[in-house]
Amino acid sequence: MLTLDFHPTGRHFLQIPGPSPVPDRILRAMSLPTIDHRGPEFGALGLRVLKGIKQVFQTQHPVVIYPASGTGAWEAALANTMSPGDHVLMYETGHFASLWKKMATRLGLEAEFLAYRGGDDRMPEAASWRRGVQADLIEERLRADRQHSIKAVCVVHNETSTGATSDILAVRRAIDAAKHPALLMVDSISGLACADYRHDEWGVDVTISGSQKGLMLPPGISFNAVSPKALEASRSAKLPKAFWAWDEIVEMNQGGYWPYTPNTNLLYGLAEACDMLLAAEHGGLAGAFARHGRWGEGVRAAVRAWGLDIQCADPAVYSPVLTGVMMPDGVDADAVRKIVYERFDCSLGTGLGKVKGRMFRIGHLGDCNDLTLMAALAGCEMGLKLAGVKLAGSGVQAAMEFFASQPAPKAA
Ligand SMILES: *Cc1c(COP(=O)(O)O)cnc(C)c1O
Repeated sequence: MLTLDFHPTGRHFLQIPGPSPVPDRILRAMSLPTIDHRGPEFGALGLRVLKGIKQVFQTQHPVVIYPASGTGAWEAALANTMSPGDHVLMYETGHFASLWKKMATRLGLEAEFLAYRGGDDRMPEAASWRRGVQADLIEERLRADRQHSIKAVCVVHNETSTGATSDILAVRRAIDAAKHPALLMVDSISGLACADYRHDEWGVDVTISGSQKGLMLPPGISFNAVSPKALEASRSAKLPKAFWAWDEIVEMNQGGYWPYTPNTNLLYGLAEACDMLLAAEHGGLAGAFARHGRWGEGVRAAVRAWGLDIQCADPAVYSPVLTGVMMPDGVDADAVRKIVYERFDCSLGTGLGKVKGRMFRIGHLGDCNDLTLMAALAGCEMGLKLAGVKLAGSGVQAAMEFFASQPAPKAA
């Protein structure tokens, strides 16, 4: 039997922004026996999860499920729709946007990065990593592309490395205002099921997501929600695709099956996750968005009371999924994380890429409640003090006051 020696008693506080804690209900659902993936029972499971996940993406169109991490679904989105040398316009919101751009380049696409042009007092070299997508820059760039050489606009909805949730509808409007035919592709790997997201209503062509963030599942499955326009583009796109190809999967999904062995036990978990997220007695998806929005506010109240800066500098795009906490100059954020982990059995997210060592991240995605977040904040506050960080006041106190005075929204 595998033992987790680091955690002799109690539950570890997994407060990183993905993987997020998996609820017992989902773990139990996943412990059911693995069944014949060509049998009748499986077809019913397949149809059930495909119906549920479409509701979570808020789409009537196909959602393709891959036995892969989110990175695989990024590749699938590009491989299905693009041809060698195609020009894609991407936007630098942070580390994940940068990784997606690197992938586009490796696939043989010409990837162009737009970034925030204004300054930033605390992080002049990473100003774009403190804000959301500026849709006006996209509109301006598309208007200049008179030959329509840009084939796709690719943006990250919730930038997990920083804690900024971009306005996707504004990006759609920018593309429309420029009368540009580019596909809109959105990474909502960490946003889905925590931050409001509407694949159809916002006119997104491909939405990419993954299992281990807002969906509360272990890592291992990922998604492409696909518009009719994207499906059409995939018929003539020339990048090599076989395993990732949508056509055979969409075809076999009509009966609830896949062309290869799907991830049966994760699909049990997905069925349970959809039931939890869509449950009317808890307000359905709108209820989930409201809960995460409130948790984000409570966590930010704590950060402000500590007198520390929030990584996201634009309150209009504060993330309901996670909060990035910047350290005062000279403090190593990873040293604080180490203390919180070793002393208080709590994992916090590390700073990635350009912000490594300068910030840590507190996840408030997936399966949370007020008291799990209070515990995480208490761990942070003790760890910050032990690391010698001078705090202006008690973030724990501020968060308690916020949660006590702002009751959780009641289901409609
Ligand atoms: C987690 C994440 C990814 C990467 O997904 P993997 O499952 O680790 O491959 C990409 N983009 C965003 C925004 C993420 O949060």
